[in-house]
Amino acid sequence: MEVVTTISEVRALVRQVKRSGRRVCLVPTMGALHAGHMSLVDVAREHAEFVLLYVFVNPTQFNSAADFETYPLTLEADIEACRTARVDAVFCPSATDIYPNGIETTKDRPRGCRVTAGDVSWPLEGEHRPGHFDGVTTVISLMFHITEPDCAVFGEKDFQQLKVIEQLVRDQHFAVEIIPAPLVRDDDGLALSSRNVRLSPEGRARALVLSQALSQAAERVAAGERRAGQLLEEARGVLSQPGVELEYVAIADSVTLQPLEMISGPCRMLVAANVDGVRLIDNMLLEP
Ligand code: AMP
Repeated sequence: MEVVTTISEVRALVRQVKRSGRRVCLVPTMGALHAGHMSLVDVAREHAEFVLLYVFVNPTQFNSAADFETYPLTLEADIEACRTARVDAVFCPSATDIYPNGIETTKDRPRGCRVTAGDVSWPLEGEHRPGHFDGVTTVISLMFHITEPDCAVFGEKDFQQLKVIEQLVRDQHFAVEIIPAPLVRDDDGLALSSRNVRLSPEGRARALVLSQALSQAAERVAAGERRAGQLLEEARGVLSQPGVELEYVAIADSVTLQPLEMISGPCRMLVAANVDGVRLIDNMLLEP
């Protein structure tokens, strides 16, 4: 497995792989790799002969300095995990290489070029994390230009992010196939996340209400409930626990992310909450 850090190295590597007729699949990550990330590698392997995983904690997508500063960094372990998972190459660039103009703003405007996310980014996370998705579309555009992959895998764990990337690729005419990968959970239902390591044992136990609220709604829909308002009220009941600070719970169209009143086909329920000061998100398919 190759480990490359510079833009010129990764460009040369990818071009050489493509000349040999192999497809390249990109797996974008911010590191602190867990089984959820590794499942993306398995999906990537099904779609390409060469899997390139990047580890880059993207500073422009954090709307809280504290969240950025405490984001777990485990590069050595990440590289080992990639070796075990038979990733073909890991790209771990520096922030100064990726953002040659820096990330500072002058009069609230970034000095470097940015890519603004489309309307799928407006509700839900967009309302609660201003600027977050513009940071995501900016870094993904940069990484697509740098690594020129044939395809890229994104987890349904960040369901709205996946939809934002699909819109980015449509609107900006990227020749990159976007492949969704299913959300991976722990045995007790908690969605795997790099931020889970910041939870205390008590916080981790409390965090289970997120997946419980979603599972209960999925069961209610399977059993015939169609009123989103009723389902959301029940979910808020499950989520209103001490130590769990709800940001939003919503039932939305799976493509536009617009809120639904009645459920007439497959759609998504999405939730965001702070537990122990750790921001957690989760989502689930609702299928009548
Ligand atoms: P992150 O490192 O958190 O930015 O995530 C990198 C990629 O891994 C994104 O496409 C995420 O959606 C995906 N991912 C993170 N956690 C999970 C999970 N539990 N199940 C599936 N995909 C995940």
